[in-house]
Order: sequence, then C-alpha cells, then structure tokens
Amino acid sequence: MRLSRYFMPTLKENPAEAEIVSHRLMLRAGMIRQSASGIYSWLPLGFKILRRLEDIVHEEQMRAGHIPMLMPTVQSADLWRESGRYDAYGEEMLRITDRGGRDLLYGPTNEELISDIFRNSVKSYKELPKTLYHIQWKFRDEVRPRFGVMRGREFFMKDGYNFDIDQPSALHAYNRHLVSYLRTYERMGLKAIPMKADTGPIGGDYSHEFLVLAKTGESEVFYDSAVTDLSLGDRAIDYDDYAQCQGVFNEFTTPYARTDETHDADLFAQVPADRQKTARGIEVGQIFYFGTKYADSMNVTVDDRDGKKVKVHMGSHGIGVSRLIGALIEANHDDNGIIWPESVAPFRVGIVNLKQGGEATDPVCEMLYKGLQLCGLDPLYDDRDERAGTKFNDMDLIGVPWRITVGPRGLKNDMVELTCRATGESEEMSPEAALDRCGQIFTDKGLLLG
Ligand code: ATP
Ligand code: MG
Repeated sequence: MRLSRYFMPTLKENPAEAEIVSHRLMLRAGMIRQSASGIYSWLPLGFKILRRLEDIVHEEQMRAGHIPMLMPTVQSADLWRESGRYDAYGEEMLRITDRGGRDLLYGPTNEELISDIFRNSVKSYKELPKTLYHIQWKFRDEVRPRFGVMRGREFFMKDGYNFDIDQPSALHAYNRHLVSYLRTYERMGLKAIPMKADTGPIGGDYSHEFLVLAKTGESEVFYDSAVTDLSLGDRAIDYDDYAQCQGVFNEFTTPYARTDETHDADLFAQVPADRQKTARGIEVGQIFYFGTKYADSMNVTVDDRDGKKVKVHMGSHGIGVSRLIGALIEANHDDNGIIWPESVAPFRVGIVNLKQGGEATDPVCEMLYKGLQLCGLDPLYDDRDERAGTKFNDMDLIGVPWRITVGPRGLKNDMVELTCRATGESEEMSPEAALDRCGQIFTDKGLLLG
C-alpha cells in the first residue's frame, strides 16, 4: 500500500475520552472511530488487523476439525423463549420488533439458533460428533461500555458449538477446544492462561476462561507463576487423540489459576509462597461444556444404535476477536505507539522515503516496494511529501515491525537502513540485502506460508 493513497487518519494528540492505552492508540493510529457508545467503525487499518486475527482463528479451528459457517446477527425471539433465555438474559439483550410486530433480537450468542439448525437436520448418532462455528458480530447492551473495543456493545466473536453422543466424546471436544485456543493465542504472540471459571448464564458444569495478564484487565486473577512458563510451542497435535488432548489439558490446568469469581484461598495457600501471584487479566476467550442443558429445553436428540432417541451433549466456545486487538496492544506498546507481533502486524514492513521525488531515492523505494510485494509481505510505502519526523512517528505509532529507511545520503554508499520496531536497533545494508533480509525473517518464522 502507498500511504499517499491509503486512508489512515492518525491523530497527534491523545483523545481525551480514552482511559487506557490500547483505546488511545487505536484512535490515534486511525484504526477505529466511535459511531455510538460501544459501537465502532473499523477504519482500513483496524479492519486489516481484525481480518488477520480472524484468519488465524479460522485456520486453527479448521485444523482442529471444526466446521465454519455463518449465522445471522438478527434472530427470532421464539427460539430464546423455548430455551427460557429470552427473559433470563435480561437487559443486555437488544430487542427489536419488526413491522409485523414480531419479536427479534440482535444475537448476543448463538446456542439456540445452532441447536435449532442441528435438531432439524441431524437425526442419527452416526452423524456425530460435529463442531460448527462462525465468526460474527454480536451485540450486548453492556451497562458500561468502555475501553474502546475491549468492552464494546457490538463486538466480533468466534463462537463454536460441539454436538456429541455422550459425555466422554463431549469432554474430548472440550479439551480439543482448549488446545486449539492455546495454539490460536500463541500464534498471535500472546500468553493467554486458562483459568477455572463460573459458568454464568450459559450454565453447565465445566468452564475455563483464557486471560491475558495486563494492568488494565477487568478481572482480578490469582495464579501459580509456574503456569506462565508453559507453552504449546510447535509440538504436533493430533486433534483426534483423546489422550493427547487430555494430556495438554492436564498440563495447562493443573497449576493453580483462577479469577476472583472462582478463587479459593485455601487451595491458593498450597502453592509455594514465592510462586503465588496476584494480577489483573483480560478475558479473551471462554469454553463451556454444559451436558444436555439445551438438549433438555430444546429437545435436541438423535437416534442411537437401537433407534432410541438420546439427548445430545453440547458445549460452546468463544474467542473475543475484536477484544483481542485491545489485549494485543495492552501487551505490546511503548511511548511511541504499538509494537505488533510479526504474526499479526497489519503491515509487516514499512518503507520510508526521506526525499520524496528524489532522483536517487524514488527508484530504490519503488524497487523495494515491488520486491516486498513479490515476497508476499504487504509493505506500507510512505510516499507522502512529509517531513522525516512525521513519517517515522507514524510508522512507530502504527507499529510496523520492520522499517526500511531510504535517504540520499546513505544511497551515495548504496546503503539503506533496516530498523526493528521492537528493539529499536538499526543496521545499514544495500537495498537488495534489506529485501532479502525481510523475506528471510518472515520465511524463518513460517509467516509467509500462512
Ligand atoms: P465478560 O465477562 O468480559 O463480559 P463474557 O464472559 O460475558 O465476557 P463470553 O460469553 O464468554 O463473554 O464471550 C466470549 C468472549 O467474547 C469473551 O471471552 C470476550 O473475549 C468476548 N467478549 C464478551 N463480551 C464482550 C464485549 N462486550 N466486548 C468485546 N468482547 C467481548
Ligand atoms: Mg466469558
């Protein structure tokens, strides 16, 4: 992208309404604009990272064998009356009446709708297990929308639903989700810790929330510091392997880690004193197994081997895709702006032309721009007629991980400068070497393939 042709309305001043750094930086970097309380337009840069995260979520869900689909944002109230949640959900539900007087709602989640689709189409145990998911906008009329996209009213969520014949199969689905979520967050460069959770209005027996530690998090968390040393890494996972998924579940959920809602002071006291930590966390996902709760209220059954109707075991699983952007910025920034992990950066390499229109600089920038595009790196070329300071500030603000600076002085010795946003370190090299290096950095990390 050539910046002169892009739409990226950055702000120099800190917007007064933003209380936390991620909200401030998203506004300043021109990623979002508020349209109403807790409702945002996603400007091109914000939209680009939303899509990056969505792609990672899709890839990891499909890798786990889960099936993508898309359900509407607006749902009929009737299904929610059937499950009993039309009244139970309370004021967080945005209720709408159409011209025929029919009650509709803007979906806060999709258990009812997917159960209805499932029960109308799946008749036999032979068709199980199945996990269906979508990534779709949700609306919850939060009492206190705040912190930008972190607690919006309209937000983007991946929600998935598993249908299994019995409890062992459903618990495998639960473990499989835990593993696939760990992988998803790790790919985004985030450490998200599974913590035992309350099941809340969704109900049921088993639940874990995934929390990213951050000073601005809304939840108070208590954990054994050993849990922060765990990582899935690049170990091969067979998502059909019950024992392997159970093993990962045990590994990640054995060290003490709970939010204030489930905190147990006596259990916590058994953690070695030097490993007892209290902090704040941002909830970026949650998984549930709720047995036959919806099968009971909505009559979701299949025929078993003997032709007898049996209730289906279900779970639901959510990732807060739009909230993750806030969490990523809370975890990765400095005084100058955002520092995107390379795997999610909206633009991976930036080119700064110190003399726009210069006889020497322009052709080199063009060569780099085209070369980086050929590598699949989606560069951002700042070709505006602006001062160097403005160009550097914007590259730092929007968090481009690698910047190539092209100036007339360096080019006299056939040199450009390659700078790493995260470390601030720079190195001089020929333009061709800079191109090769960028290609190499992303190839080595496997980021040019997926
Ligand atoms: P919270 O406790 O933060 O209100 P929740 O437990 O009600 O969230 P879930 O039903 O578990 O939310 O939804 C799955 C994920 O969607 C959450 O883990 C969170 O990341 C995200 N999410 C929920 N509410 C919001 C919101 N108002 N704005 C942005 N993301 C949200
Ligand atoms: Mg939750």
